[in-house]
Amino acid sequence: MKTMKALVKRNAEVGLWPQEVPVPTFGINDVLIKVLRTGICGTDVHIYNWDPWAQKTIPVPMVIGHEFVGQIVEVGSNVKDFHPGDIVSGEGHVVCGRCRNCMAGRRHLCKDTQGVGVNRPGAFAEYIALPMTNVWYHDPHIARDVQAIFDPFGNAVHTALQFDVLGEDVLITGAGPIGIMAAAVVRHAGARYVVITDVNPYRLELAGKMGVTLAVDARATKLADVQKQLGMKEGFDVGLEMSGNANAFRDMLANMAHGGKIAMLGIPPGGEMAIDWNAVIFNMLTIRGIYGREMYETWYKMTVMLQSGLDITPVITHRFHSTDFQKGFDAMLSGNSGKVVLTWNEG
Ligand code: NAD
Ligand code: ZN
Repeated sequence: MKTMKALVKRNAEVGLWPQEVPVPTFGINDVLIKVLRTGICGTDVHIYNWDPWAQKTIPVPMVIGHEFVGQIVEVGSNVKDFHPGDIVSGEGHVVCGRCRNCMAGRRHLCKDTQGVGVNRPGAFAEYIALPMTNVWYHDPHIARDVQAIFDPFGNAVHTALQFDVLGEDVLITGAGPIGIMAAAVVRHAGARYVVITDVNPYRLELAGKMGVTLAVDARATKLADVQKQLGMKEGFDVGLEMSGNANAFRDMLANMAHGGKIAMLGIPPGGEMAIDWNAVIFNMLTIRGIYGREMYETWYKMTVMLQSGLDITPVITHRFHSTDFQKGFDAMLSGNSGKVVLTWNEG
């Protein structure tokens, strides 16, 4: 049996363990991919920390990780469109293909989604096997590190393009990697003002490099004052909630224009967050939950925006070899990081 190096959630406790595990077997509709680079997601940090969500979700042992770029090394006998040597990423949600939404082509709404590196073996390994329907072929002109983070970039794009932003004033709460990428996306898509909030100075400074109008420390500055400073009179037209923080969401609700639209990506701890229903009802706000990415319309838009000049490279702040994974997780845990990329194989 051939084995490979992988990062494994081996024990039901804090940490991750480098281990030799079998190279995945694959079926006639699958591809085997040599992993080149991976991104560390907040989800991986939850699994590392073994928080209550991870405890009830992750079976141990599990090879984790879902943000990656790799090179196809073998394909199943039914696979005609992919070939050894192709540079690809994998959509992190494996859908059932049989539920009503899947049958209708709305695969991002599948009721039986399986998460790569969550419910099935992931990408923090030398190889990963995936169904061919989960594979995205990359434009070779896109930088390798950017290819590695298409999954979270996809969260940013899926959220940022939910509502029309051309000429609109956009408020983003949370300047984590996804909020920062979303800021660049709405700017690219023609928003007028892009205001992003956080409580972490490192991240606010990083957001400043992505072409935002204002990066606001929510502890020091009120959004009402930001509106005055910009000469805004009626509130933000579009809100992208990317912090999962109740205070951030409350401030957003209080600063939306009548008829404003909010896309909710951030996940509140414990799943609950208070809502001022008077603001929602009397101001006729739309609030929409966002999960994952659209297969594969989001992937198409990501590619095309990069081809037409969108630059998200400043969001990648740390790069390590996979053997230095602990340094990567330490950077994530410190909060003073954007995206952290690990190299598994040079390619
Ligand atoms: P992150 O945790 O790195 O970023 C969240 C940011 O919010 C942090 O920088 C934090 O300092 C900031 N924040 C905290 N309190 C704040 C406040 N009061 N006001 C403004 N900002 C505040 O997360 P990320 O990786 O950028 O992801 C963004 C969010 O989206 C997270 O909640 C994550 O769990 C969630 N997420 C959801 C999906 C989905 O499919 N719905 C997918 C990926 C991530
Ligand atoms: Zn389905």
